[in-house]
Amino acid sequence: MEESYNSRPCLPLINDNGSITATGSSQKRSGRRAPSCSANGRVHRLRDYLGNSLEPPEDWTPDEAGAVDDLLAIVSADYNSAATAVSGEQATGIARTFSRYPELMEGVRIESGDVRLNGRDIVVRLEPYTRGAGLHLWGFSCDLKTDHGKKFLIYLNTAHQRGAVAATLTHEFAHYVLWKVEGVQTPHNEGPLYRLSKRLRNSQELVCDSAVSLLAMSQGSIRRRHSCKSNSKEAHKRDIADSLDAIRPEYRMFVKSERIPFEWHVRYLTTTLHLFKLRRALAGTLGI
Ligand SMILES: [Zn+2]
Repeated sequence: MEESYNSRPCLPLINDNGSITATGSSQKRSGRRAPSCSANGRVHRLRDYLGNSLEPPEDWTPDEAGAVDDLLAIVSADYNSAATAVSGEQATGIARTFSRYPELMEGVRIESGDVRLNGRDIVVRLEPYTRGAGLHLWGFSCDLKTDHGKKFLIYLNTAHQRGAVAATLTHEFAHYVLWKVEGVQTPHNEGPLYRLSKRLRNSQELVCDSAVSLLAMSQGSIRRRHSCKSNSKEAHKRDIADSLDAIRPEYRMFVKSERIPFEWHVRYLTTTLHLFKLRRALAGTLGI
């Protein structure tokens, strides 16, 4: 069967043999530099929140500094006002639809290959990808033209932690539902998806993340905790600890391991906190 991909700009290229190549937009990710004052400031704030449980490196790459900045931005972000841009009906509808596709959750358990959903128009392709943009590519979705008509391709980078793959799958599935049911096309210039603090200003991204948070965060723990409105350092610290408690095992991605680089410990923690704060804000502002 002949297939052609209509991928969106700023995405990796899919070669004829199905392998993935970074586009020219991928950044060079090397070269350490001496810690600056701002790096020291970041270390102090990280220690305020995490104690010594996540030891920062002696010096910083730009990616590591960017990851920590994103975490600190999410720690202090106001999710209640961000959540007002979300349609609760859309988010709950997507989460309900996703749970009707058990094949999708099966899909995240396999290491590579394609998951074609019989009689449906979604193709999930799983492949580890570490070159070029590397782990910065969590996944993406695009149109897939086949002899049998247009399909919706979801690509997942399985080099990530399982929970991160599950979260990406749910997020991309949300784009599928918005396109199929609501007729909403994903904006072509979403920007780097891994910068979560930017996503708070994008209502379509936020509705997709809301669907993830509805599925990933245990409702009981959110209900117990959503009354806290304090913006203190102690409240931030508690939010981080609570987010790690509240995330369901299928979506758990912050796993302390020496094999996971510091940058990715920070990014997985940031994503967990983002989903937790979003879930709490949905409960607090929209009552869902
Ligand atoms: Zn998206």
